[in-house]
Amino acid sequence: MAMIYRCSKAALEAKARQILMAYNPDLLDAPQPIPIMEIMEDVYGLNFEYQYIRNDGRVLGLTVFNSALVPIYDEEYKQYELIEVKGNTVILDAHLFDKKMDGRSRYTCAHELGHYVRHREFYLAEDLEAAKSGDVELTSEEDSSAEWQADYFGCCLLMPKGVVKKAYYRAMGDKVAALANLFRVSQQSMRIRLQELGLTS
Ligand SMILES: [Zn+2]
Repeated sequence: MAMIYRCSKAALEAKARQILMAYNPDLLDAPQPIPIMEIMEDVYGLNFEYQYIRNDGRVLGLTVFNSALVPIYDEEYKQYELIEVKGNTVILDAHLFDKKMDGRSRYTCAHELGHYVRHREFYLAEDLEAAKSGDVELTSEEDSSAEWQADYFGCCLLMPKGVVKKAYYRAMGDKVAALANLFRVSQQSMRIRLQELGLTS
């Protein structure tokens, strides 16, 4: 039976680092925004689609592993409809783009890549899609653990430990704002990451 395996923070950090190193070692040397969508397209052959996934924006992203009919919200007709989606597709919530939430959409991508690299076997076997909710929903032990892994992996990938530290010591003034801007993530994500790395101003 396919299952979600437990995974340590160190293992998730190492996996993210390995992906960045293989893609472009400079990403681990010079502080810069991680080209998350390019990595997903170039390395994993993932396709992106933009849809209103739910009427209220509560689901920010959805990875479709097997080709499937997926319910999405039709903004024009104000109703749900099934659309055909090819396997290996990440659907991003169009609300994120309407509101120009760049950091949030990049984080959603990194979270979905976390599911792809860690939980693909599980979702394929169960014939499920992997979603990123706006709010954390604790539906079951297994699910919450998969969500935690995808979130933690996403942080490690978009804000690699070494370069974040380097940038932190160089930054002047409001370090959270400066680093969020530098790595193109939300200030909230950067604050969490800095705390995790033991860096707080
Ligand atoms: Zn998720």
